Amino acid sequence: MNKKLWEFLRAMENKHYHILWFTVIVSLMVFITAIVYFTGGTSSTVQLLYVPIFIAVFVYGIKGGIIAAIFSGLAVGPFMPAAATGEMQPTAIWMLRILTSVFIVLVVGKLYEHVKKMDDLEKKRAYEDVATGYFNSNKFNIDWTDSISAGTYGSISTILFRFENMDMIKRYVDFETSMKSYIRLLEMAEEFFYMGTVYTISDNKIAVLLPGVDIDRANNLTKGFISISKSPMYIENLPISTVIKCGIVNYPNHGTEAYKLTLMLDKALEQTSRLHSTIGIYNDIIEKEHERYYSDLVSLYHALKNDMFTLAFQPIIDVRKNRISSVEALLRWNDSRHINMSIAELIKRAEDAGFINEITKWLFASVAEQIKLWKEKGIEIPVSMNLSALDLSDAEFISYVTDYIKENDINTRLIEFELTERSIIHNEEIMSEQLMKLKKLGIKLSLDDYGTGHNSLKNLMNFAGKFDYLKIDKVFIDKILKDEKLIMVDCIIRAAHRMGMKVVAEGVEIHEQVEILMTVDCDMIQGFYYSMPLPPEELEQYVLGPIKHEQKYAYH
Ligand code: C2E
Ligand code: CA
Ligand code: CA
Repeated sequence: MNKKLWEFLRAMENKHYHILWFTVIVSLMVFITAIVYFTGGTSSTVQLLYVPIFIAVFVYGIKGGIIAAIFSGLAVGPFMPAAATGEMQPTAIWMLRILTSVFIVLVVGKLYEHVKKMDDLEKKRAYEDVATGYFNSNKFNIDWTDSISAGTYGSISTILFRFENMDMIKRYVDFETSMKSYIRLLEMAEEFFYMGTVYTISDNKIAVLLPGVDIDRANNLTKGFISISKSPMYIENLPISTVIKCGIVNYPNHGTEAYKLTLMLDKALEQTSRLHSTIGIYNDIIEKEHERYYSDLVSLYHALKNDMFTLAFQPIIDVRKNRISSVEALLRWNDSRHINMSIAELIKRAEDAGFINEITKWLFASVAEQIKLWKEKGIEIPVSMNLSALDLSDAEFISYVTDYIKENDINTRLIEFELTERSIIHNEEIMSEQLMKLKKLGIKLSLDDYGTGHNSLKNLMNFAGKFDYLKIDKVFIDKILKDEKLIMVDCIIRAAHRMGMKVVAEGVEIHEQVEILMTVDCDMIQGFYYSMPLPPEELEQYVLGPIKHEQKYAYH
């Protein structure tokens, strides 16, 4: 259906509404005039005419009321006898009656207008988003509920859009531009979804309520909107590209209660992040996935609280000396039910749920304990452990580490922290400060997964002097035998050396990789070629024996 047709139907709807009330008012006027006439003429029954007059005021305003008052006055005026005398009324009487009712219409009409204005203002305040001027989530919930309970629509679809890069625009351009792009998106949505209503939801979301639109049409419309929103918009001559994702739910396909459908809408949208898709149509699988997600999270927290995690240690080999230089501690959760959850996924979930800091504290204490135990056995080997970005933004973490070191007399020379490039690029100033605090404690730092972030070379410059080691990510190492990645690795190693860092190649699996890495002066190698991550006892044997070049140990 095109926009013109839609507007025509809307106008027709309006027209029907007016025809209906017009008929009611005229019928009442005729009916009451007939009563007056058949009861002998004007008496107190004429007062009944105020019913259609007031209806006219409420429906058509003061003007409508005055017209109704004049017509009613004329109907019971010059041609209507007075009941008391049975004779025609004097002109002055019926004229006075008309004037009185016009006066009453003016008073009532003004009062009604005032009350309506106040009511509209209140509604506006309650239903309008101050920043954008569009309807807010209150209004959305009310309209959603009303359109379902009206029962006139067989199908109602709702779409929730999220402006994914609004925060980035806020951070890297400014707040005003981000807000203007958001409002522009709202305007575009209003224009595109003319058959529905557009709402501002929270800071960066837009909801569209589409009564009478089924799920397939909603999906097609959404695709259309996403494709037009892809072309950059110009905000004060600055080209801004918006990235949007969306969730779709439909009444009655997914449910019949507005409240539950709104929750589903959030889940449908959330799903797009997990599946790396743009449009998420709600389905039962989402519900089950959610249940599983939360039950996994509960088990994860339970495992943390009940000391059910263990550590595996992967040797890092100094290739020149052909001996272990350190080990990396990697978290392990030996719960067979969660065998499908990778450690990286586990860490991500703990970050999302907000208890990664607790895991890191557990990790730090366990690493410190292991260093002590090995010392007792005469093994002195540095252990590196992974920090999450959220650990450094937690001021408490550094004081926890400081206190722990003091209280337990830990040799910090044996502790290294690994931080990924991505985790430190936000809030560089604060991060640098935190890193310096750790360095002061004597803890060595590694820049982990190097090459997977944006602008890696710039990061290398910025963080030179703060990191002792640079770990080149496996994605580079995987390709050094095949393509030009070797040149890049060579350059990275040279640059790192000039900045006083030693380089570790991660994920080395075959002998040829070791050979080629040695030609470009790589200092250390970590990977399955030398050893998989091992439980502590096996690592002890590994340390004490000669370096084995085989994948003998499997503990991951
Ligand atoms: P990462 O820090 O890059 O750790 C190295 C990962 O690569 C480990 O996976 C290790 O088992 C694997 N790996 C090592 N050599 C090879 C190889 O030659 N081939 C292949 N295919 N893989 C190799 P893991 O243990 O599954 O850990 C995955 C990621 O999870 C880690 O990547 C790290 O980012 C994170 N992680 C692990 N343990 C912790 C932890 O205790 N705390 C935090 N915050 N993150 C952790
Ligand atoms: Ca690491
Ligand atoms: Ca790594």
